[in-house]
Amino acid sequence: MPLIQCPDCNHKVSDTAPTCPHCGRPLAAQTIEMTGKKIKKLQILSFTLVILGLLPTIAKNGDSTAGLLMILAGVVLYVAARVSKWWQHE
Ligand SMILES: [Zn+2]
Repeated sequence: MPLIQCPDCNHKVSDTAPTCPHCGRPLAAQTIEMTGKKIKKLQILSFTLVILGLLPTIAKNGDSTAGLLMILAGVVLYVAARVSKWWQHE
């Protein structure tokens, strides 16, 4: 069974262990997977905000200021998700 070194406590840990048994740190593969899910959730949320913001703007019978704010929030969230994705892969 291959052993990897825990980045926090430097103990040797099995590469199949989900967390370090010495300090409880979640190990790399799982951390990346969890971060990926978080980013996907952020991207879904940003797309939802943009679509919800576009609806009153297209229909022109809703509050277009609120719609524009939603689109802006969606774009900001999308950029934040892209930046954190890029950050994780460096
Ligand atoms: Zn550890």
